[in-house]
Amino acid sequence: MRLTSIFFDLDETLIHSVLAEEGGGECPAGATVFGPYHSWMRPCAFDLLKAARSIGVPTFLCTTSERRYASGLSKLFDLGFAENEILGYEHLTSGQTGLAPGAVLIDDMEPGHEIAQFKRQVLGIGTERYCQLPAFRGRPPGDENAVIQSLNAFLRPFRNAR
Ligand SMILES: [Mg+2]
Repeated sequence: MRLTSIFFDLDETLIHSVLAEEGGGECPAGATVFGPYHSWMRPCAFDLLKAARSIGVPTFLCTTSERRYASGLSKLFDLGFAENEILGYEHLTSGQTGLAPGAVLIDDMEPGHEIAQFKRQVLGIGTERYCQLPAFRGRPPGDENAVIQSLNAFLRPFRNAR
């Protein structure tokens, strides 16, 4: 299958954030303070990004959070997205659709969830180009090897077609 770009969701896919005040104020082990948030990077986030980037097509962040939040976290955790590789809420709600029909989206939400459907509509992709990974919600992490394998299995037909 044709592949032109790979989009990653941010929250619960690559990182997890909670408002510090909701967590009692003190920064939990393994978390990093980011403005009003305590944020964790998914233990396998770099592995997921590496697997995707090894295909050789552009990778982007695609989040319904504010762009500056995504940009700040990308810098904080060194996720490697350039400023023009981050689509935030502002872009997603600009009214444009069908922006990247050759793309795939990697996200923690059910493909039928209204936010997932909305993102798919903006990109112009069907469920066959949507990879749902188990949500990351801070510590303790789940089976991260299974998550990496799941992404690799999803990407294989696209990789083979290149
Ligand atoms: Mg998410």
